[in-house]
Amino acid sequence: HSGKKPGRVLAEKLHQVKVGEVKSVPVVVPEKCTVYDAVVTMFIEDVGTLFVVREGGFLEGIVSRKDLLKTTLGGQDIHKLPLGVIMTRMPNIIYAEPDESVWEAARKLINHEVDALPVVKANAQEDGAMVFEVIGRFSKTNITRLFVELGEGDY
Ligand code: ADP
Repeated sequence: HSGKKPGRVLAEKLHQVKVGEVKSVPVVVPEKCTVYDAVVTMFIEDVGTLFVVREGGFLEGIVSRKDLLKTTLGGQDIHKLPLGVIMTRMPNIIYAEPDESVWEAARKLINHEVDALPVVKANAQEDGAMVFEVIGRFSKTNITRLFVELGEGDY
C-alpha cells in the first residue's frame, strides 16, 4: 500500500494513459464532398465531427454539426456546396498526437471549446512543410468511456 491520496492516483493515471490507447477510428471526407453528403455521413457514421482530408489522408479541415446546421439555415443549395467552403481550415485546427496524455488532450477540448480532436501523425515533407496524417479521433466520448473504465477499476 503506497499511502497516496486517491485523487493523486487518479491524476497519475490520467497523465499515464495516452491518446493513442483510447482513440477511435476517424471518419474522414474529401474537401469536394457536398454539405448534403456530409450530413448523410454524420448520420450513417454516428459522429458529431468530420475530418476533411486530401489524398493520402492529410488533414485539411474539420466540420461540426453546427457548421452544417448553420449552412442549411443559410439557404444555400447544400447539394452543390462543397465542404471546403464552410469547414474550419488548417492551420486553425486543434489536434492531438498519439503520445500525448489524455489529460492534455482533454484540456485542449475544454480550452478551445470543441467536441473532438483529430489524432495526427505529423511529418515534414521534402520541402520542409508539415503535413498531418489523420490516424484517429479523440472526443468527449473517449473521455467518458475512460472515466467509466477507471470507475470500474479496469484501467
Ligand atoms: P458544434 O459547433 O457542432 O457544437 P464544436 O463545438 O466541436 O461542435 O465546434 C465548434 C466550432 O469549432 C465549429 O465551427 C468547428 O468547425 C470548429 N472545430 C471543431 N473541432 C475543432 C478542432 N479540433 N480544431 C479547431 N476547430 C474545431
